[in-house]
Formats: sequence, structure tokens, C-alpha cells
Amino acid sequence: MGEIIDGRTLADKLQTELKTKVDILKEKGVTPGLVVLLVGENPASQTYVRNKEIAANKVGFLSKIERLPETITEADLLALIEQYNQDTAFHGILVQLPLPAHIDEEKVILAIHPEKDVDGFHPINMGQLFIGKPVMIPCTPFGIMKMFEAYGIDLDGKNAVVIGRSNIVGKPIAQLMMMNNATVTIAHSHTKNLEEVAKQADILVVAIGRGHFVTKEFVKEGAVVIDVGMNHNAAGKLIGDVKFDEVEPLASYITPVPKGVGPMTITMLLEQTYIAATRTIEEK
Ligand code: NAP
Repeated sequence: MGEIIDGRTLADKLQTELKTKVDILKEKGVTPGLVVLLVGENPASQTYVRNKEIAANKVGFLSKIERLPETITEADLLALIEQYNQDTAFHGILVQLPLPAHIDEEKVILAIHPEKDVDGFHPINMGQLFIGKPVMIPCTPFGIMKMFEAYGIDLDGKNAVVIGRSNIVGKPIAQLMMMNNATVTIAHSHTKNLEEVAKQADILVVAIGRGHFVTKEFVKEGAVVIDVGMNHNAAGKLIGDVKFDEVEPLASYITPVPKGVGPMTITMLLEQTYIAATRTIEEK
């Protein structure tokens, strides 16, 4: 029986600790500020942004949401980002993805000042991470690393397999685990014998985006299984990429969906905004 890695409880604990740190920072005259730019009416994005705002308020941040029309031009969006790059009240800028098709996502990511890029998607921050000197780390992988730390899961010398090679999850989590001395394999849609590859893993991180794709055939007995997936089944219920009921008895540790990786992602966004705010004091 696998121990459940309770992301909700861990996130709440970290947010409570963060609130205390924010109170101390405020006494020094700095309130961490996070602005989220939301373009259009995508319902999933609306929910994510609302959750981010609730969490930011809870830990005592200055929190702002810029709700922008679907029709905003790329130039206007870039100009607004530049305005927040200059605004010292905000230490973190997040543009909620995906963006409408007429806006170039890459240009938008490049426009955010790397020091305010709390999502960690700017090529400078990605580069820092991949040379082993991370400054801003993409929040989902950062949250997974916090889970390993909190549950005493040692990566040193372990075989880790990541299924998925996206810039926001697969690649950075692979790099972070390698930095912690795991031997990492990255699998993707062209990987041959995926089940066999996954079954080598002491630590299996799944970030595919296909509901219940990973069955017990993919999992070695005693493996740690981290399910990043967020999918909706036919009944509209949120489900992970891992078939939890049949994998859980095999795993030593496993994250559920919901209440697993998801709450940690938001928490790391807050943590990273806090860190960005503390840097402004160090610079003074
Ligand atoms: P993505 O950009 O769509 O990448 C998916 C990856 O999975 C790709 O590398 C793809 O391979 C691989 N893949 C797809 N089908 C596969 C298959 N049949 N066999 C092996 N590999 C396969 O997705 P993402 O942004 O990384 O997100 C992955 C999932 O995590 C989604 O469900 C997303 O909603 C969720 N997510 C959750 C959080 C959170 O906070 N909990 C945060 C971010 C994402 P190719 O590269 O070969 O196409």
C-alpha cells in the first residue's frame, strides 16, 4: 500500500509558514506583489487565476488580476507587461497560458523581466536551471521537489523516469532530479516499450495529459509515483494520468489527483514571488 503524498496538506502548511515570512518582510517595508494577466474567457484559466488570487491574498500579498479582452492586440499586451516590469510594487508577473492564437506566446514570455518571471519560463531562467544554477524554477516541478523533501524521498542514485518532455513540467523536473543525483530517463510519445522503460523507475513522474494512461503494468513494486496529469473524464470529473486505484497498492508513495501536485504548483508560485521580493531588499 502506497503512502499518499498529501499535496493539499503540505501546501497549506507551506502557505502558513510563508504567511509568517511575509509578515516579517512587511515589517521591513516590502509587501510581495503578484500580478496575473488573464486574456479572454477560457473557463479553466479563469478558475486557475481565481485560485491564485485567493492564495496570494491568504498569505498577505498585494495581488492584482488584469482581466483583458480576448481581442487585445499583441502590442498592447507587451506594453502592459513592460509597464509591470517597471512597477516596483509587483515582484512577480504571470501571464496565464494559453493565449489566443493571434498572440505569440514566445514573445510574451520573452517580454517578462527574468527577475519577475515567477513561472520560470523565460529562456534566461530555463538556461540558469539547465546550467545547474536555478533562479526561477517552473512551479510544478518546484512543487514536486518540495514533496520529495517533505516526505524524505531521497533521489541520490535512484532511477527516475519522466513521461512527458514539455518545457513546463517534463524537462525541468528531469533536470531537477538529475541535479539531485538521480539517473534520469525522459520518455515521450516516440519512446519504444514505454511500459518496460517506466518499470525501471524507482521514481516515476507522469506528465502526459491522458487520463488513467499509466496502469499497473508501468510500475515497479515500491516505486514512488508522481501524477502531474489533470484531465476530465466523460463525467467531467478531474482525473490524473495514473490509474490510481490499481497503481497505489504497488507504489511506496503516490500523489492523488486532485489534492496532489496541483496545490503545490500554486504554493510554489507564491514562494517564488516571495523570494523575488526578498531579492529587492538585498539589492537595496
Ligand atoms: P504537454 O505540453 O501536452 O506535453 C505532454 C507530453 O506527454 C509530451 O512530451 C508528449 O510527448 C507526452 N505524451 C503524450 N502522449 C504520450 C504517450 N501516449 N506516450 C508517451 N508520452 C506521451 O503537457 P504538459 O503541459 O507537460 O502537461 C501534462 C499534464 O500535466 C496535463 O494533464 C496538464 O494539465 C497537467 N499539468 C498539471 C499541472 C499541475 O499543477 N498539476 C501543471 C502543469 C500541467 P511528445 O513530446 O512526443 O509529443
